[in-house]
Amino acid sequence: MATTVKIKKSPYRTMLLKKRQELLAAGQRRPEALAMSLQTPDEVEFAIRSAQQDLNAATAELHSRTLREVESALKRVAGGTFGECEACGEEISANRLKAIPWARYCLTCQELRSKN
Ligand SMILES: [Zn+2]
Repeated sequence: MATTVKIKKSPYRTMLLKKRQELLAAGQRRPEALAMSLQTPDEVEFAIRSAQQDLNAATAELHSRTLREVESALKRVAGGTFGECEACGEEISANRLKAIPWARYCLTCQELRSKN
């Protein structure tokens, strides 16, 4: 069987697809919540809701950023480079990939990048 490598990587692909679906579903709920918040003229309500809106915007920003990372990771799965660190080319540890399947860098490179 020549599919051994694909089988080994498929759990990550499944995880990535699931995450993408979650993010897309969360993004679809957002406009509705936003529209609802604009229908309340009361000032206090408005303040609370605009704070929620800020939070929604921050969440949406995080979602779209994560979504881009997930999409990019899926491309790496398809291209066969998934699991390689983009900075040093070493394999990213399985534990790290289980926690963050869309990780671009190994732990060492990630730490270096967050320090700089
Ligand atoms: Zn690295």
